[in-house]
Amino acid sequence: MTPRTRADLDTIPAYVPGKNFPGAIKLASNETTLGPLPSVRDAIAKAVSNANRYPDNGHVALIQALAGHLGVPTENIAAGNGSVSLCQELVQVTCQDGDEVIFAWRSFEAYPVVTQVAGAVPVRVPLTADFGHDLDAMAAAVTDRTRLIFVCNPNNPTGNALTKAELERFLDAVPDRVVVALDEAYFEYSSSDADGIELLRGRPNVVVLRTFSKAYGLAGIRVGYAAGDPSIITALGKVHIAFAVNAVAQAAAIASLAAADELLARTDSVVAERNRVRDALLAAGYDVPESAANFVYLPLGTASGPFGAASAEAGVLLRPYGDDGVRITIGDPHENDVFLTFATSAEARSI
Ligand code: PMP
Repeated sequence: MTPRTRADLDTIPAYVPGKNFPGAIKLASNETTLGPLPSVRDAIAKAVSNANRYPDNGHVALIQALAGHLGVPTENIAAGNGSVSLCQELVQVTCQDGDEVIFAWRSFEAYPVVTQVAGAVPVRVPLTADFGHDLDAMAAAVTDRTRLIFVCNPNNPTGNALTKAELERFLDAVPDRVVVALDEAYFEYSSSDADGIELLRGRPNVVVLRTFSKAYGLAGIRVGYAAGDPSIITALGKVHIAFAVNAVAQAAAIASLAAADELLARTDSVVAERNRVRDALLAAGYDVPESAANFVYLPLGTASGPFGAASAEAGVLLRPYGDDGVRITIGDPHENDVFLTFATSAEARSI
């Protein structure tokens, strides 16, 4: 007899990472193309040599470094095994069976998954016609069962950024009992005036999520963080899996913060490349929403899957989203050129 697992899991799609093959140009996961700095590699090697010891479950040194970096007290910060695990922990600390979690759609694919796995109900609020958050509709979707709202700024996969004034208006409209998670995974690429760390001051229901996976280039190491009211941070600690942020991740993140200036300077060239790629796509006749992140989005509708498949054939892996669109991560200039050669080809234009 097949062992029994929860019947409702059948309704949750399994996460399928993008296909990879040797030699492919991978523009599918919003990673950076440059590897860790020498100082970060050294910290990683040193941590590996102590791998016989458990990591610090309180992430004390990392949280102190983050507190200095953000200008926020240590009791307002939690670390996680990537910010995706903090998304999951936030649902766990706010929701019980049948409670509701609101987010825009499309947005980060993990939101519906972590919501449903926790037994909560996802409430998807469609993006506006220009692929941004419809904050009025999201505020109007709040019910007595709403416990958590994810706002992804800039939005993955469409790239749009909200302004400070838009977010302030939204936060004023949402009842204080509802936790609002400002997911700023791509914050470092954004030129929006919205900074979650400023927005959470005086608003105990706001939590900011950030990650070392994107601008800091540590996607393979897995570390992210949350900043918010100490009551939420304490609750996150209760559902956190012990030792989930390993010693290598903690050491790499601390070394990356020490080298923040050098690492963040890299984002300038990504932003310049993003603008170049977008301009070239616009010139070729594509509709390309403005992006404040390290990717661009092509709303290709039913052509999205075939476009992604043809691009993979041409050696460039992208991320198609059903019948909605295709997300293209900004790579190095050569990688972007290979993609643009495909995207502007007669074959791609005829898909
Ligand atoms: N939030 C958003 C919006 C993302 O796009 C991602 C990564 N794709 C994450 C969170 C999670 O990043 P990580 O778990 O690598 O920190």
